[in-house]
Amino acid sequence: MNQDIPLSIDALVDSLTIEEQVALLAGEDFWQTVPIERLGIPAMRVSDGPTGARGTQFAGGPASINVPCSTSLAASWDPDLVEEVGQLLGRETRVKDARVLLAPTVNLHRTPIGGRNFECMSEDPYLTARTAVAYVKGVQSEGVACCIKHFVGNDTEFQRNSIDSQIDERTLRELYLVPFEAAVSEAGVMSVMTAYNRLNGPFAADHGELINGVLRGEWGFDGLVMSDWFGLHSTVEGVEAGLDLEMPGPTRHRGAALLEAVTEGRIAPTAIRTAARNVLRLMSRLGVLDGESPAADVASAGSDEDRQLVRRAGSAGMVLLRNESAALPLDNASVVNVAVVGPNALVGQIMGGGSAQVTPTHRRDPLAAISDRVMSLGGNVSYSQGCSTHKRLPPFDPAHYSGMSLSFFAVADDVDRPDAEPQRLGQVSSTQLMWTVDPIDPSHSPDFGVIARTVFTPPTGGMWQLSLTSVADARLFVNGELILDNTGHPNGGSFFGMGKSEVREGVDMIAGYPYELEARLIRRQSADAMTGLHLGALAPEPADMMGEAVAAAAEADVTVVVVGTNADWECEGWDRDNLDLPGRQDELIAQVAAVSRKTIVVVNAGSPVAMPWLDDVDAVLMTWFPGQEMGDSLTDVLFGDVEPGGRLPVTFPRRLEDTPAFEHHPGRNGSAKYLERRLIGYRWYDSVGREPLFPFGYGLGYTDIDIVDAALIDAHSVSVTVRNPGQRSGSEVVQVYAHRADRSDAEPDEAEQRLVGSAKVTVDAGGSQQVAIMLDPRAYQTWDVAQHGWVDLAGEWELRVGRSSRHIATICRVAVGADAS
Ligand code: BGC
Repeated sequence: MNQDIPLSIDALVDSLTIEEQVALLAGEDFWQTVPIERLGIPAMRVSDGPTGARGTQFAGGPASINVPCSTSLAASWDPDLVEEVGQLLGRETRVKDARVLLAPTVNLHRTPIGGRNFECMSEDPYLTARTAVAYVKGVQSEGVACCIKHFVGNDTEFQRNSIDSQIDERTLRELYLVPFEAAVSEAGVMSVMTAYNRLNGPFAADHGELINGVLRGEWGFDGLVMSDWFGLHSTVEGVEAGLDLEMPGPTRHRGAALLEAVTEGRIAPTAIRTAARNVLRLMSRLGVLDGESPAADVASAGSDEDRQLVRRAGSAGMVLLRNESAALPLDNASVVNVAVVGPNALVGQIMGGGSAQVTPTHRRDPLAAISDRVMSLGGNVSYSQGCSTHKRLPPFDPAHYSGMSLSFFAVADDVDRPDAEPQRLGQVSSTQLMWTVDPIDPSHSPDFGVIARTVFTPPTGGMWQLSLTSVADARLFVNGELILDNTGHPNGGSFFGMGKSEVREGVDMIAGYPYELEARLIRRQSADAMTGLHLGALAPEPADMMGEAVAAAAEADVTVVVVGTNADWECEGWDRDNLDLPGRQDELIAQVAAVSRKTIVVVNAGSPVAMPWLDDVDAVLMTWFPGQEMGDSLTDVLFGDVEPGGRLPVTFPRRLEDTPAFEHHPGRNGSAKYLERRLIGYRWYDSVGREPLFPFGYGLGYTDIDIVDAALIDAHSVSVTVRNPGQRSGSEVVQVYAHRADRSDAEPDEAEQRLVGSAKVTVDAGGSQQVAIMLDPRAYQTWDVAQHGWVDLAGEWELRVGRSSRHIATICRVAVGADAS
């Protein structure tokens, strides 16, 4: 028995009846475990993750601090900063009375169009591991467990609930498992979430070789393993594989079915006991057993200090990709007339879409922050949107309708019977609605009808676009006339991939006239995990938005073009189709650049985008989704108060066709074959000799920091001297890549080089500094399938020290003996 486990956990688990043990193995509801009142065992609450601690409501719940997305955190290359952000998230989790944060997400950017890339960190396993370890240490220092996810092979969203990710053993070990292993062995992560997909056959949630074999057996993980939401498909196999907790509740596969399996001898009671003990042990570690069941969610106070940290972290991740003639930072002389244009300027995209979304405690948008700054310098700012980028129409603006009244019917078809009496009434403030259980009787699977009514008074007249998306059949009536109907349409394209594609219709409306809107939704019993309804509205757009923006740019001394994606383009549930900026944004930038004296492009997206206009603009700043303080993080960098601190955690390709998984993504016939094997990200571009648009690790500062010299301390550490010849202090990320010089016996998928160490250094103007960089202990190793273990690759190695994977300043040589490690 493990010595650090209090004996009382064994006593406690043995004092439970088998029914109580089984009850502990599935959630009570969406976010909590089942309390065992007889023994005073409270419920334990979990919360998403990873860009804030959201609490128990998917949309519109009490506010939480929204931190930069994980790609941005990785782009900072600054584990100390990430740990601070982790501490903040740990405190935020406690505010929601939750004890497990469903984060971090450490799947890899196998393709730049992965829908959840913004939630993941990097294409590189080592950088992901460094970032994840810091994140977990930070969160867990606050008495909260991280639940690292998704274990493993959920690297894209295509058919994520069923796809079989076929990944060979060495690729798994050397890439996809690395961040999980580091989080277990270096950060002591307390919980792991299995992935939705299958892995080489079995579902990840039923994968005994993975959970009991690798995770618990080899890595010594002794925490709790839970399923992704509705990602468990078995009664017996999951428990036997080592999956302790089915989420969410109420159970679909355990409960009575599992008890029956015990009675019939299909599963040993000891397997149940082990899983129940893992649940109790986590509760004990977190002190949950000494407290009460969680209280209702409250909003985070969002202190100034926390907001300052988010602001700092946001700029620390921003990557300056181009800066011709030192266009940035902006100086006082050049900010007299500033044009701000672009679809992400008025409302910046502070986070991506899906389960990582939170209601922020505050938001600072680019236009407001730039205007305040420029006006404080005595300048003027004009604004034009330039074009729109909606994938799905936005929800109705609450300023123009008075909430929605809801009537629920136990018999779904009653929504069409005028004399039917509803069994329940409700009122909500948003036109985006979601139900995870039957709203009338949560004890049975959803089977109900709902009528949602509101009165909408358009602020402007003209041709409005109205839209409807839903899980379940729905119709929208305006003043009694049927406008939209998705009855019988197949699922796919909304609500995490569970809902139907959007249907839209134009309606000519008169400004100030009250229109009665009525949506009727018929939800029948089905395998769909949730029910949802989204009503969208887009006001008539001005005739020549782009012309207005170009005219404003022509007048200005400098034009800041804020472009990007949004939470519908980059969202859990689906991948992007291509790398293009949505809508007419490329055209907007090209037209602006043709007339503007100085064009600064701010790219507000969670992953790489194509930049056909790159050579025509003066500067490009990649902000990712930088969190709720976006506007201030951005102006801090634009005006040079802080360095653009980020370096790319992903390669920016020239074309989608150049990318590693292009030929194999998304997969077919139910499987995604990872045939690019170990060559993802820069490993691929280096090996096949393709020129990226911007290489992994790249980013400019406001001063050039030179790498003067590097010397080996020993085989696992190097000392690097850097110098700042410039006039201002600045920072650089010194990166070390290991390259095997003698490649005569190299496998085709052995990388040319791989990142094995890095350090972020800040150097004063005119100063120099020496920094010691510790290398990955596995810098010279490979996974040997026959020996089922790590072995040295003996011979000559180069340690390439540089500012990116393609800007190598100096090389140290190491001889690795057959017996060295
Ligand atoms: C996501 C998880 C998330 C869970 C709970 C799932 O759809 O894949 O990452 O933690 O929902 O919201």
